[in-house]
Amino acid sequence: MTLTASDIHRLIEAWAARLGVQVERIQIRTMRHKWGSVSTVGNLTLSSDILTLPCDLAEYIIVHELMHLKFPNHHRGWQVSMGMYLSDWREREQRLKQLQAEEETLAAGSKPDGQQ
Ligand SMILES: [Zn+2]
Repeated sequence: MTLTASDIHRLIEAWAARLGVQVERIQIRTMRHKWGSVSTVGNLTLSSDILTLPCDLAEYIIVHELMHLKFPNHHRGWQVSMGMYLSDWREREQRLKQLQAEEETLAAGSKPDGQQ
């Protein structure tokens, strides 16, 4: 099951409240190499590809980005907090990476004669 844009907005609001962070603006748009990003002032941008993902992976991306409002990098503080709020985040991250790798293989295979 995937999420609609309004589901995504609701999920972001719920998670922002839970984590005690402030989201100023939400944008869902085409992003080439990332699932999402967040600025220090709370502008959250998500790839429109998030709408094609299973709910739990979309949720992982949202929590991942919102957690950056508390911890700017992926160091210990960020990891410990992820574990507290989303105990299976590592497993979700793995599935996301796997899905991405599969898509990249498909995209590469579709190029005629392997040309760019
Ligand atoms: Zn990150």
